Amino acid sequence: MTIKRFLVLCLMMSICGGFFQIQSAEDVKPTTREMNLLCWQEFQELVPSRIQTVLLPVGSIEPHGVIPSGTDNLVPEAMAREIAASVNALIAPTLNYGITPAMKAFPGAVSISPEAYRPFVVDILENLADNGFRNIIILNGHGGNTAVLKDVTAPVANGKKVRILVINWWSLADDITKEVFGENGGHAGNNETAYIQAVYPEHIHPERYTKEMASVNPPPGAFFTVPVTSSIGLYEKGQGYPTFRKDQAEEYFQKVNEKVAALIQDVLQKWDLAGVYR
Ligand SMILES: [Zn+2]
Repeated sequence: MTIKRFLVLCLMMSICGGFFQIQSAEDVKPTTREMNLLCWQEFQELVPSRIQTVLLPVGSIEPHGVIPSGTDNLVPEAMAREIAASVNALIAPTLNYGITPAMKAFPGAVSISPEAYRPFVVDILENLADNGFRNIIILNGHGGNTAVLKDVTAPVANGKKVRILVINWWSLADDITKEVFGENGGHAGNNETAYIQAVYPEHIHPERYTKEMASVNPPPGAFFTVPVTSSIGLYEKGQGYPTFRKDQAEEYFQKVNEKVAALIQDVLQKWDLAGVYR
């Protein structure tokens, strides 16, 4: 090799070396992705230079048939842990209390008023934006929170110039529910029970379960009750009863997580392509 060729080779290697030193999402390996566990110095090193996305699990504590009352918190929290690396995100602490007035009568339930919940959520979202996150992904586990979340998203996103995605996982997973169970789901039904069974098998109680515990959700606008008549609310008559099957639980857990991660990746990509609020 001539000296000239050697020098050209060295130049190429240094260019390539420099190129490969650029951090890709896969290269970012924080000691933990949970904000609760990070020290502030490491957070400062990560956000926003290496991580611009945060996952915020929000839920509720309310009765769920024979599975944990914190199911609406535990599902999005487990989901966040499962997918955080694949979307290069940190995980904000879970909002464990939500709006659930129709279930307040059940032992162990706690319901926050929308008037109190709304400014609390807004402050958290704005603080996450102030901390340097550009993408806030709300993983919602509880239907009662949806109206307020929908209401606060646009003012915070446009006010702080950040991008916000709200995911109601059980709705997004509708097709997976039908694929895995061959039928529709329900509140504390086959879908939620399966997801929890995959993560906390020791905290489901089939020995306490009877089919009579379930009610069919009323058709939209037909009627409503307070308290609800059952904590297991079937989306459709004759469908959505918990199955307690380990194989279905594992399949459901995996497929739901994959679908949620794929949605987030797609949305992030589209936002970047559009160049909005970068
Ligand atoms: Zn639930």
